[in-house]
Amino acid sequence: MEGALTARDKVGVQDFVLLDAYTSESAFVDNLRKRFSENLIYTYIGTLLVSMNPYQELGIYTMSQMELYQGVNFFELPPHVYAIADNAYRMMCSELNNHFILISGESGAGKTEASKKILQYFAVTCPMTESLQIARDRLLLSNPVLEAFGNAKTPRNDNSSRFGKYMDIQFDFQGIPVGGHIIGYLIEKSRVVYQNQGERNFHIFYQLLAGGEAERLAYLGLERDPQLYKYLSQGHCAKESSLNDKNDWKTVSNAFSVIDFTEADLENLFGIIASVLHLGNVCFQEDDQGCAAVPDTHEIKWIAKLLGIYPSVLLEALTHRKIEAKTEEVICPLTLELSVYARDAMAKAIYGRTFTWLVNKINSSLVNKDFTKKTVIGLLDIYGFEVFDKNGYLFVLLKDEECIRPGPATDLSFLEKLEEKVGKHAHFQTRKLAGPKGRKRIGWMEFRLFHYAGEVTYCTKGFLEKNNDLLYRHLKEVLCCCKNGILRECFLVAELESRKRPPTVGTQFKNSLSSLLEILISKEPSYIRCIKPNERKEPSKFDDFLVRHQIKYLGLMEHLRVRRAGFAYRRKYEHFLQRYKSLCPDTWPHWHGPPGEGVERLIKYIGYKPEEYKLGKTKIFIRFPRTLFATEDAFEF
Ligand code: ATP
Ligand code: MG
Repeated sequence: MEGALTARDKVGVQDFVLLDAYTSESAFVDNLRKRFSENLIYTYIGTLLVSMNPYQELGIYTMSQMELYQGVNFFELPPHVYAIADNAYRMMCSELNNHFILISGESGAGKTEASKKILQYFAVTCPMTESLQIARDRLLLSNPVLEAFGNAKTPRNDNSSRFGKYMDIQFDFQGIPVGGHIIGYLIEKSRVVYQNQGERNFHIFYQLLAGGEAERLAYLGLERDPQLYKYLSQGHCAKESSLNDKNDWKTVSNAFSVIDFTEADLENLFGIIASVLHLGNVCFQEDDQGCAAVPDTHEIKWIAKLLGIYPSVLLEALTHRKIEAKTEEVICPLTLELSVYARDAMAKAIYGRTFTWLVNKINSSLVNKDFTKKTVIGLLDIYGFEVFDKNGYLFVLLKDEECIRPGPATDLSFLEKLEEKVGKHAHFQTRKLAGPKGRKRIGWMEFRLFHYAGEVTYCTKGFLEKNNDLLYRHLKEVLCCCKNGILRECFLVAELESRKRPPTVGTQFKNSLSSLLEILISKEPSYIRCIKPNERKEPSKFDDFLVRHQIKYLGLMEHLRVRRAGFAYRRKYEHFLQRYKSLCPDTWPHWHGPPGEGVERLIKYIGYKPEEYKLGKTKIFIRFPRTLFATEDAFEF
């Protein structure tokens, strides 16, 4: 027994349900720390997987590991993301129902990596026919393309997903992956025109410049050096040593060809990417009348060429605005400030819609019409929860009022409105209302919310800008008539005719959330909670404070308590017997009778007390983890 205790002391328990002091957060953190120091990054709470980001390659995602987990009962092997994947897959195959795996955690915690491991696991272990290999490859290669356009370097994560992603993997009745479908949620468009210190724009811009063929760049009017582009250099880290843009370009180019992008698609696509870069470099000056003018039209000409617009039309749309008077349209010049706003709005709009086009394009290559009866496993990789820094998004309805008129953001008036409407709420605090005695100072443009998970300070600087989506009608008209094939699909004339106001980011978020819930509600869930061990992206560093914080807002202690409230463990008789049969001479090496009776014989022999367990129809239920723990200990010797 002593030996077993030592092993447990060293590597911790592989399921938190087995912890003696299960209500103690310290015991929880201790267990995670012990395991992390032994490079054991996975731990269960029952069937929920807690995953620590190791920030190093651990050699635990090999082919032989994949084979090991295939078709094996969940608790028989050490916890692994493959076990979660395999369990969902087996259940889907045997019960012919739909599943989803929800992966959550803060930015940099390892959500996207986990979802990629699951996808790879299916790609390697599921049965496959020759004709369906292409579907599998496209599923796998959709990742690098979407990451190139939807991920960016931030201080927390060099490959941070700046959009939410839900992906269905579709299987036929034999469990062969036959197709898929992706939904992208709310790409962070504001990044296209502005990045904070230490951040980059979306990877694709840098990849194109670093890896694109010389002729392609010449055709697009681009130079290799990202520092030359305003939209790429505001964060002062355009050249990031940890990223290999040139190599990534090769991966993305290859993916494009497998996913069926034609040369014309690529020409249109990169025409748009280059146009965004040119747009960022368009400079305005104020003329004698205080109106915006463009002294150097070099960039305008490139954009006009690449998008198929008349340069004069584009120039006018960037510096003027159409106002509808009673009977006629009047064209008014814009101020310099409004022209900058219009330019950035155009860049954001074309990038955002192109991203949607890209997702649709990938989806059309993943469709498999030959299989009508399909079951699915959905993977949901949702946003990093940004706790310690300034939050840019807040989805409250009253924001909509401030966002609906185009124009430069008035962040202060937004804050004032917020104070007016919810200032009295116990969970809301601003500088004005907190007074000088506030525990932690709140900045001039900040407010604080007391969430379930803890306090979060939000900064309203650039707030409306981030949530604002409006494009002047004039620019929209220009884009509806351009020759670029992708933009023609993205900006439809019908939109111009509609009098309805486009939804703000907040409203879009609410809508997509409710449709996502609908998608999930009909499926069986599995959960993965990812935890980031430190803020420095370093291996082997375990920051107690940071980990504790995540345990809190991921609700892990509550989850553990719920698991423990009932019979903590339940196992099918066959599986229980298979694992522990060697502990009893009657069941070893084989038990030939009904498995339930075998289990009864076995637990009587090893001395389970009546209050410790219940025998169901097909399963044994064990109330206390220590019971199973003792059995495991005995089993080890
Ligand atoms: P975000 O919300 O910002 O998108 P995320 O939770 O998706 O964050 P990932 O991109 O999955 O975070 O992980 C960040 C980085 O951590 C990865 O690029 C990789 O370097 C490392 N990492 C994550 N998981 C693992 C793992 N299982 N093994 C090795 N390294 C990992
Ligand atoms: Mg991610």
